[in-house]
Amino acid sequence: MFDTLSERLSGTLANLRGKGRLSEADIDATAREIRIALLEADVALPVVRGFVARTKERAKGAEVSGALNPAQQVVKIVNEELVSVLGGETRRLRFSKEPPTVIMLAGLQGSGKTTLAGKLAFWLKSQGHTPLLVACDLQRPNAVTQLQIVGERAGATVFAPHPGASAAGHQTQPGSAERNGVGDPVDVARRGVAHARDKMYDVVVVDTAGRLGVDEELMRQAADIRDAVRPDETLFVVDAMIGQDAVATAEAFRDGVGFTGVVLTKLDGDARGGAALSVREVTGQPILFASDGEKLENFDVFHPDRMASRILGMGDLLTLIEQAEGAFDQEQSEKAAAKIASGELSLEDFLEQMMAIRKMGPIGNILGMLPGANTGQMKHALAQVDDRHLDKLQAIIRGMTPAERADPKIINGSRRLRIANGSGVAVGDVNDLVNRFFEARKMMKQMAGQFGFGGGQRSAT
Ligand code: GDP
Repeated sequence: MFDTLSERLSGTLANLRGKGRLSEADIDATAREIRIALLEADVALPVVRGFVARTKERAKGAEVSGALNPAQQVVKIVNEELVSVLGGETRRLRFSKEPPTVIMLAGLQGSGKTTLAGKLAFWLKSQGHTPLLVACDLQRPNAVTQLQIVGERAGATVFAPHPGASAAGHQTQPGSAERNGVGDPVDVARRGVAHARDKMYDVVVVDTAGRLGVDEELMRQAADIRDAVRPDETLFVVDAMIGQDAVATAEAFRDGVGFTGVVLTKLDGDARGGAALSVREVTGQPILFASDGEKLENFDVFHPDRMASRILGMGDLLTLIEQAEGAFDQEQSEKAAAKIASGELSLEDFLEQMMAIRKMGPIGNILGMLPGANTGQMKHALAQVDDRHLDKLQAIIRGMTPAERADPKIINGSRRLRIANGSGVAVGDVNDLVNRFFEARKMMKQMAGQFGFGGGQRSAT
């Protein structure tokens, strides 16, 4: 799911990498590509328009951050916009102060409601709840039996109508006889909730009937069940693989029954999935859960931020960007950039930068957040990274006087020995650091000349 979108978006953003500045034309081109990526992924047109317009506007007025280069800022903006389209903050299930909490499931036939009922029960149990599943889908052949089977798998009790009787309900053993087309679903729902109250179940999940398409009868029945049990949450269940129809169906359910949250199912499918991404924005209701397989455990609370970074294929790069923003102070970064440009970087600056990086955590972890960190060579290289080496460098620099840090050329042989002794390292280590520092400074000077560094890391607006 989202593979094409993910590939295109990360490809587009990768093209920006390495650009010191972004021109207006760069931003326009990027916005165009983002638009194509979203449209190809089946994201609804109004959602695409809003997304692209906001991203473009923000990228042009790029919020200046000392720690991020312009390309990283665009990644950050796109990520934030994606998180926002997906709903912003994670929305948790709301439980009633007076149990039982009633959760009603609504959606088209085949959207995955019955499967979801089992998953929800399984998840609720893991959270310490005692759920009761109520079988109100009395239309689809086998729906009650199917609910009983998933209920049994989840270890949850199912409340279903008596075989052959109408307007009656009782608790059944999972997997017992099939009951088709019997009973009044509204009455079963009402009795199910009363049963839960009597028997101290604290959450009731009401599975309702769906149709292959949206029709009035379906809406009326769902609305009647809603009025009978007054659910705390009505979850609209939508198959992420149905494409643009997802948006139209969501609108029909919003107007016909109303819902408080969305559950995306079949996210494991290989479809484009963009329509599912549009449901939140189009209906204004949050996505609460996502399901990505037929097994009970293929289900989780939906986290907009995690889904966005999954779509962007950025691994933990976004976490890294955030941590960098926290660790570096803009003024300090700009000063360092200017010094690099003029080739005046001192060991004091080097120490400051190193300490800022280390505020972000162990160096191996920081590098491990970069895309590609889990691939063969990089993984091996990361295993060699040792914070003790950085400790040693820090100790050596701290052993120098401010004048020596500013200009290591003045450190003669006897001072090198004193510094080595003072910081508990060999003279060779001190020589090594000083020599490498000179090399690095030379290289920075050359690079600065070549690429025209300097003047901080602002984007051209
Ligand atoms: P209902 O008619 O809304 O109750 O839908 P069902 O729960 O019967 O689901 C319809 C079909 O979709 C069944 O074959 C389920 O096994 C399947 N299904 C449900 N959720 C998922 C999912 O997240 N991933 C996949 N691959 N299949 C699912």
